[in-house]
Amino acid sequence: MSKKKAIILDRDGVLIEDKNYSYKIEDLEVLPGVIEGLKQLQEEFIFFIVTNQSGIGRGYYTVKDFHKYNDYLISILNENNIKIEKTFFCPHVKEDKCDCRKPNPKYLKLIADQWNVNLESSWMIGDHPSDIKFGINGGCRTVYMVTGHGKKHLQDLEAKDIKPTLVHSNFLDATKEIMK
Ligand SMILES: [Mg+2]
Ligand SMILES: [Zn+2]
Repeated sequence: MSKKKAIILDRDGVLIEDKNYSYKIEDLEVLPGVIEGLKQLQEEFIFFIVTNQSGIGRGYYTVKDFHKYNDYLISILNENNIKIEKTFFCPHVKEDKCDCRKPNPKYLKLIADQWNVNLESSWMIGDHPSDIKFGINGGCRTVYMVTGHGKKHLQDLEAKDIKPTLVHSNFLDATKEIMK
C-alpha cells in the first residue's frame, strides 16, 4: 500500500481565530478560506490537528472544556464533509518539559507510524515559529500563516533562522500553492 500524504494543522490562529486561551463554543470563529481550502486539500491529503494547549496546564480551562470546544470545531468541519483523522494536544506548560509539546516531533512520528504517512510529502501549517520548527523536525514542508499570532512572531522566525516553505495570510491562498 502506498503511503499517505497528510496536512498537519495547528488549530488556534490557523483554523479558528486565536482569542488567547479560548474554550467557550460561543467564541469559536472559523477563519476565512479554511472550509473551502480543506475541501480542496482533502482530494490529496488526510488531516490531523496538533495543538499546544498550555491553558490546561495553567488552569485556565480543563481537558473536558478543551474537548467540548474542539468537538464543536470538528462537528462544523464534519457538516462540511471534512474529516479530521485525529486531534493531538499537549496540555502541559513549557516548564513541564514534556515530550509532546511542539516543536517536539513526537506526534508527527506517531502519525507517520500509525497512519502510514510519508512526512516528506506532507505539510505542517501553523502560525507560530514552534509550529514551523515542529514541521521541520518531522521532515515536513511548512506553511507559516500570518494570521493569529503569526504577525507578532514574524521577526522571531527570522531571528531564529527558521525557514518555512511558504508564508501566507489566507488559508485558501496557501491551499492553492500546496495543490500546485
Ligand atoms: Mg496557533
Ligand atoms: Zn506535553
